[in-house]
Amino acid sequence: MRCPYCGTEVSYQEKFCPSCGAVMPLQPPAPPQQYQYYPPQPPYMRAEPSGCAIASMILGILSVLCSCFCFFSVPLAVVSLPLGLYHRSKYRGNQGMAMAGIVLSIVGLVFSLFYFVMMMMEENYYI
Ligand SMILES: [Zn+2]
Repeated sequence: MRCPYCGTEVSYQEKFCPSCGAVMPLQPPAPPQQYQYYPPQPPYMRAEPSGCAIASMILGILSVLCSCFCFFSVPLAVVSLPLGLYHRSKYRGNQGMAMAGIVLSIVGLVFSLFYFVMMMMEENYYI
């Protein structure tokens, strides 16, 4: 069980979180889904990250880098995000790159939105 306040792993016997001292809620032991068994991966799904994970990550990086030009960044992020999500849903193994792609494309979207708002405000300012 995790402390709902600080996230520290706390055993079920504890009434208080040893890290932050919060009172632990009385909860039944976690359902077995936490210990879900993943069958060993067939060799063709092994270490190599798939093309879409790499593409997702690269597009995500580009979308962050280009976020000051939202005309480039938004389509990049829009392509990168589903690629990363697709990879995550399809492969169990190497998720780092797909995760990076998802996170970067979200960051790229947020940045480009931010720049877009700034641009609009600036335009209004000059009118
Ligand atoms: Zn705590």
